[in-house]
Amino acid sequence: SLFSQDLWMALDRTRYMQSSKTFVMVDEPFWLEQDPQTGRDRMSMTLTDRLTRGTYLFDDGPGKPAAICLSYSWMSDSLKMLPHSVDRRVELALSALEKIYPDLDIRSHIVGEPVTVSWEDDPYFLGAFKGALPGHYRYNHRMYTHFMQQDLPESERGIFLAGDDVSFTPAWAEGAVQTGLNAVWGVMTHFGGACHESNPGPGDVFADLAPVQLED
Ligand SMILES: Cc1cc2nc3c(=O)[nH]c(=O)nc-3n(C[C@H](O)[C@H](O)[C@H](O)COP(=O)(O)OP(=O)(O)OC[C@H]3O[C@@H](n4cnc5c(N)ncnc54)[C@H](O)[C@@H]3O)c2cc1C
Repeated sequence: SLFSQDLWMALDRTRYMQSSKTFVMVDEPFWLEQDPQTGRDRMSMTLTDRLTRGTYLFDDGPGKPAAICLSYSWMSDSLKMLPHSVDRRVELALSALEKIYPDLDIRSHIVGEPVTVSWEDDPYFLGAFKGALPGHYRYNHRMYTHFMQQDLPESERGIFLAGDDVSFTPAWAEGAVQTGLNAVWGVMTHFGGACHESNPGPGDVFADLAPVQLED
């Protein structure tokens, strides 16, 4: 009874998605070396339809240890990784990258133990984040605007949602901050507080900045 049926529906239908990452540490950022044949870096951030999907490179300057996120994947691509051990995930990723970079010996640079995370496998996480998928606008609208409670029945007032999963940019910290500010304004208003005139809060300028409401 804390939320309307429409809001419950929005919370329920915007589901958390799976996501996995696998990292290895390497001795140095070897990818910055120039390939004499092409004149370009030997390796770069790699988006592919092979199972790694996204490979990201992190360096701290030449000659210093660096890290590779061998694979960053979502949804069913992440589920493919779920049953596998960390070593098997590394093996799968390296064999995919070897096909893309046949002249590069990535393995020989690896130092230390690999690290992997599957958010769907972590207790209490329920997945990594929500996605604003096609058709979700109406649900994001309901969740995002819930902090404006003046028209809600008395029984539904006084509870405030915050986090990127109730924003228009789920999976981004920006939405977490925006909805955090909205919730703070909501709590303050609920307890009879107000912003200084020269520094209006999100609810004070809501009429001008509110997200467009589309027909359901
Ligand atoms: C795999 C992944 C990749 C991402 N990549 C990016 C990116 O590239 N760029 C970007 O901008 N954002 C990214 N994000 C999103 C970003 O991490 C989130 O938007 C942000 O962390 C959400 O902040 P929050 O404060 O709303 O929630 P959280 O950071 O989730 O904080 C909630 C806190 O509440 C605690 N908590 C939960 N229950 C209770 C309880 N009952 N009592 C006390 N404490 C509790 C939790 O332990 C947690 O510390 C990514 C997220 C994931 C998972």
